[in-house]
Amino acid sequence: MDLPLEDPAEQPRPATLDGIITDPVMLERRAGDLTDQTMRFRSWLKCECPMADAELDALVAATARHMAALIDCGKCGLCCKLPSIGVNEADCARLARRLEISRVTFARKYVSVYEGEEGITGPCPFLKELRCTVYEDRPDACRGFPYLEAPGFRGRTLMLLSASFYCPIVFNTLEALKRRLPWRGRPRRRPQGRPIRSGQAG
Ligand code: SF4
Ligand code: SF4
Repeated sequence: MDLPLEDPAEQPRPATLDGIITDPVMLERRAGDLTDQTMRFRSWLKCECPMADAELDALVAATARHMAALIDCGKCGLCCKLPSIGVNEADCARLARRLEISRVTFARKYVSVYEGEEGITGPCPFLKELRCTVYEDRPDACRGFPYLEAPGFRGRTLMLLSASFYCPIVFNTLEALKRRLPWRGRPRRRPQGRPIRSGQAG
């Protein structure tokens, strides 16, 4: 992160920026600690949040854009290192063409079934030095990930909860939404700006 911080003495721990967590180990631990809270937030979003879908989608998209501007995907690549990257027929045909091999060879070499779904066997073999070497022809599942700017946020909250364990954009967007929305279980901040757990908020 290279945003200016006025007083170096007030700098947060190296992997955070104003509470934004990017360090993968810290992120996974924090997402685990917050799982129950995030599940409650998810239930509230689906059943009680008074915002219309379009209004909520717009807020989520704006929050995610803000996070994406602070978090460098080029230094992360964790979504390319999952055990499987979903593909469809068109993806396989496109990638086989690009690699100048047959569809059958592509499937034999790169595709396997993981948890009942076909996918490129991860970590993705097309990720080299944190760059996608097939970018223009990447699978549809890679385009638009983590889907925070697509309509229908309410219907994807379970997938996002899972992605919050590794994707800093998802994790930090969800945490920001907990604070921005009128959710009674939202984490509050101490006067000096330090966050506290919702159970301590009274
Ligand atoms: S195809 Fe590219 S964007 Fe998709 S997982 Fe592989 S390296 Fe990442
Ligand atoms: S979308 Fe998320 S997991 Fe993927 S590279 Fe960007 S920050 Fe990392």
